[in-house]
Amino acid sequence: AKAEGRGAYRFFESQMDSDVRERRMLEAELRQAIAENELVLHYQPLVSAEDNRPSGFEALVRWNHPIRGLVPPSEFIPLAEQSGLIKQIGDWTIEAACKAATLWPGDFNVAVNLSARHFQLSDIVSVVSDALAKTGLPPQRLELEITESLLIENPDEVIERLNRIQALGVTVAMDDFGTGYSSLAYLLKFPFDKIKIDKSFVTASSEDAVARDILRSIASLGRTLKIHITAEGVETLEQVEFLREIACNQLQGFYFARPLEELDLAGYVLANAAP
Ligand code: C2E
Ligand code: CA
Ligand code: CA
Ligand code: CA
Repeated sequence: AKAEGRGAYRFFESQMDSDVRERRMLEAELRQAIAENELVLHYQPLVSAEDNRPSGFEALVRWNHPIRGLVPPSEFIPLAEQSGLIKQIGDWTIEAACKAATLWPGDFNVAVNLSARHFQLSDIVSVVSDALAKTGLPPQRLELEITESLLIENPDEVIERLNRIQALGVTVAMDDFGTGYSSLAYLLKFPFDKIKIDKSFVTASSEDAVARDILRSIASLGRTLKIHITAEGVETLEQVEFLREIACNQLQGFYFARPLEELDLAGYVLANAAP
């Protein structure tokens, strides 16, 4: 049994080595991907709950890998955060999204997801203001989506920087609202312009009266605090009708559209925007 145990240990060790090797390889590939422009943005419509018409689009990054095809962000953003590559990816994303939005057929907002790690690693206020200056996108058309993980470390410094971003005229949204430990506490600490209710509540609302009560409470909280409320992950007409009834401001989800390739955005606008 002793020998077996040692063998198992050796196996575990070499397994660990190969995990590290694989991570290093992926990291090198990702570094190259950035240089060779293999990252692409897809854009998912954000529609007004009042009339189902698009008012903006959220940029969602994908890695267009020559062999593996379209790799979702869940498979490389965590690695990019660990390795620090998120700095390059984040800088690129903000500028590419702003640039794309200047070419859209209409003055739709563009929402960009900001990693907490990117925020820590760079002078994020300059990154944002440089992207706006370089592309000429009016700051009022840019929204930044952040999760509460950002506010855990050095909240005072983070809040100071968020205030400066907001002062540029940029909208600051709290993403995945309700999934962390202190979503409500953070609303007191920082004046978010917008809350995106996490899709888990929307999904659960179809079956679960408690989830519907929570959604109703968040919507009413938004009205009290004058914060814009968006619900993500909307997949059914029933959900649309409920979210409209409780007066959410904006909806997003597969019911309206999946994330679109850049080339398909104009067609979507033509078919769905106000005449
Ligand atoms: P998120 O910001 O919460 O984005 C919403 C995710 O839900 C997206 O997945 C979107 O495609 C998906 N989704 C949208 N509507 C529906 C729906 O009706 N039903 C279901 N089941 N899913 C829906 P995606 O594109 O794979 O992105 C996953 C996460 O990766 C994002 O979650 C965000 O946290 C992160 N991410 C995406 N793009 C970026 C980026 O450019 N930078 C950073 N730092 N993170 C990003
Ligand atoms: Ca988001
Ligand atoms: Ca979410
Ligand atoms: Ca998220």
